[in-house]
Amino acid sequence: MVAENQIIYLDNNSSTRVDPAVLEEMMPYLTTDYGNPSGSHRFGARVKEATNLARERMAALLGCQPNEIVFTSGGTESDNTALHSALQMSPERRHIVTTSVEHNAVLNYCEAFVRRGCAVTIVDVDEQGHLDLGALERAIRSDTAVVSVMWANNETGVIFPLAEIADLCRLKGVFFHTDAVQAVGKMPIDLSEVPVHFLSLSGHKLHAAKGVGALYVNRKARFQPLLVGGPQEGGRRAGTDNVPSIVGLGKAAELSLSTLEEENTRVRALRDRFESTLLAELDEVLVNGDPGARLPNTSNLAFTGVDAQAILLKLDQEGVCCSLGSSCTTGAVQPSHVLRAMHFTNERARSSLRFSFGRYNTEAELDEVLAILPRIVRQLRQLSAAPA
Ligand code: PLP
Repeated sequence: MVAENQIIYLDNNSSTRVDPAVLEEMMPYLTTDYGNPSGSHRFGARVKEATNLARERMAALLGCQPNEIVFTSGGTESDNTALHSALQMSPERRHIVTTSVEHNAVLNYCEAFVRRGCAVTIVDVDEQGHLDLGALERAIRSDTAVVSVMWANNETGVIFPLAEIADLCRLKGVFFHTDAVQAVGKMPIDLSEVPVHFLSLSGHKLHAAKGVGALYVNRKARFQPLLVGGPQEGGRRAGTDNVPSIVGLGKAAELSLSTLEEENTRVRALRDRFESTLLAELDEVLVNGDPGARLPNTSNLAFTGVDAQAILLKLDQEGVCCSLGSSCTTGAVQPSHVLRAMHFTNERARSSLRFSFGRYNTEAELDEVLAILPRIVRQLRQLSAAPA
């Protein structure tokens, strides 16, 4: 049992703790420096300078120009904006290509698009979570407006070959958007090497606040905003800037750039020790997603024969947070669309849990989890084997 009032947080793909250095940079903009960055006085200009610095820091993390960064309210808005813009800019093209493992911010946008009488092709993945690039290429039609493929999957951590997909879209002359909400801050990204038109990211996945994010818009991409109104963000996203959160996101980007390599090495070692110990101690634990092409922090495991919800509940009682490979919709537990898309049975999906490590996890925490989790799985297996 973890000490009372303490938790071991292994749900970093869901959200992350705000870094104290991020909070420190945000504080003046929540207290003393409250001017509107669009204001035409020195007080506002000071705030504008702070958002400009955030833009520069974000651009440095992505390998792009500061004026290619549009601050938004998060991943969902960025995803919606990119797809909206691509469709607005090519009104004669009424087709989207995406994948079966995207986040609902993309999939539900596409569903709404279909309801308006338009077409979407959803490209499948294999059991390892990989895309068939030939199928992706064949899915692109003469009326395709945009291809949207995530950089890394939020549930399994599987990384898609973005450079190849971006090249393919360039050759086909279609807009390319990538949801990089899980990739940014967890792997190196250099947009000077990868020709995407749009890239979405979200602050709360990289130790900044919730409700802030950004959309990278390639300077050569034709663009139409989703939110219209004032001239903020160079006319690409109306509404007074969320200054404290934008400043914090800039700091988070700077921290990420300077610590990425070291942090990845440390987090990967934690994740790998977690998996290898569990696989050695317990029978029939399966890794979901290609272990050779994953984010360093993510482990999605199926505990064959055990209901993952029961494990999650027991872990929660003992102070360990992780997340289910399924979602609770209207009271019923639905196996995750990602795991189902990987052709797993409902049983495998229902026995799967996602553990996502991060900046604040320690070896000592891992020792504790490795003392708790195998015991819980064994207990639950014994219970289900016992005669009724
Ligand atoms: N895309 C992916 C891959 C995500 O994991 C998430 C959040 O979990 C989102 C989009 C949505 O981001 P936000 O919570 O900032 O709207």
